[in-house]
Amino acid sequence: MSFSSLGLSAPILQALTERAYTAPTPIQSAAIPAILRGGDVWASAQTGSGKTAAFVLPIIERLVADGPRGRGRYVRALILAPTRELAAQIAGEIQDYSQHLSQDAALKVLVAVGGVSINPQMMALGGGADIIVATPGRLLDLIDHNAVSLSYVATLVLDEADRLFSLGFADELARIIALLPARRQNLLFSATFPPAVWKLAENLLVDPTRIEMPAASEADAPDIEQRAFEVDVPMRTQLLRNLIELNGWSRVLVFVATKYATEHVAEKLTRAGIPAASLHGEQSQGARTQALSDFKASRVRVLIATDVASRGIDIASLPVVVNYDLPRSPDDYTHRIGRTGRAGESGVAVSFISAETDAHFRLIEKRNRLSIVREQLPGLEPVETIVPAPVQTGGIKGKRKSKKDKLREAAGLPPTTPAPKAAKADDATTRPGTSEPTEYFSWSPRTPPPRRY
Ligand code: AMP
Repeated sequence: MSFSSLGLSAPILQALTERAYTAPTPIQSAAIPAILRGGDVWASAQTGSGKTAAFVLPIIERLVADGPRGRGRYVRALILAPTRELAAQIAGEIQDYSQHLSQDAALKVLVAVGGVSINPQMMALGGGADIIVATPGRLLDLIDHNAVSLSYVATLVLDEADRLFSLGFADELARIIALLPARRQNLLFSATFPPAVWKLAENLLVDPTRIEMPAASEADAPDIEQRAFEVDVPMRTQLLRNLIELNGWSRVLVFVATKYATEHVAEKLTRAGIPAASLHGEQSQGARTQALSDFKASRVRVLIATDVASRGIDIASLPVVVNYDLPRSPDDYTHRIGRTGRAGESGVAVSFISAETDAHFRLIEKRNRLSIVREQLPGLEPVETIVPAPVQTGGIKGKRKSKKDKLREAAGLPPTTPAPKAAKADDATTRPGTSEPTEYFSWSPRTPPPRRY
């Protein structure tokens, strides 16, 4: 199949040719015609399989076909993403794919994300926009400032939809949906749609085309070699250093559970002569953007990140992802390792397993139908054993240090803290060693929830 047979017009085809895309990926072949027809689409496809172009290309095509936008603070297409970096990435793709549109057809594309001053975004919204790519919180701020109206949104995209359905975004998403017109096209995309969100998706969508692109064959699956190393918790940075040096990995994305760990591990690696940067949701947006661009441009060899980098981010030629701390859920595992092995490239995903997290990793394997051989690096073989949970003999919970925290203290690690009720929007947090499912919110389809003032 060719892109031209999908109904895309010459300026878009020219941009695709310049990117040397010879043929659409399976998700693009399936989704582009369905979106062009105007109906709702619910699409799941593997990480790195070309989902962004699958919704961006037909949206551009339809907006151009519909003619220029009217005046006012209106927006015609709204794309929501869970992180600022992903929103910026999607907007960059739209600009690239629409660069050859004629001047009359040119689209106004804006990014609306938090962490930066709202004033330039408000100014840019003068006269509305064709497409806004936004994180939910900043979009609502702009609405509250009367800078934008959603009353004429014709197409809504939830990219990484299952994440946007999670409780961290619940209030914000409900408010946004309440402000949209009832008649609109809804597009949901993600690599994972856990059963907990099926009902939510069904409530949002009207008679959707359901597209599922699991690997039809081994050949279609992302080419990611998955490995697991057993190691004691205090030896993980040493193991990481040794693996980087032994394998000569040129670029490594390392996931950890906390902001503290991103900085701590990055500092240790840098001191050991391996340039590393940290990325987490409590940095300034300038620092976040800098860390990601330094990594993409190979100015640092290692990026130590929280799950803020686990969804959608496309880093060309990233050969290795490491789970220094295990992800919270089996789906998070899929998204994290999916930062490698993209667009037909191969990659390696390495997970560090300690006595404490062994059971959690087994659960991730089971849910993802994996069986990964355990390895040990000579010289760093683990000696820790699982410590049974202390028997509660009364006392007030939380007043005394737990045995686990005492062990962590002895290992020079910060104490574990109670899990937040829901991951904070725009910076997913993880709790290693747990298998708690993500919580999701609910609303009924066309009866919007009450607006909060
Ligand atoms: P995505 O899943 O949208 O993040 O895309 C993953 C990677 O595949 C990105 O680097 C895209 O630039 C690339 N890509 C998307 N569509 C195609 C295509 N039709 N042919 C080759 N590469 C593509």
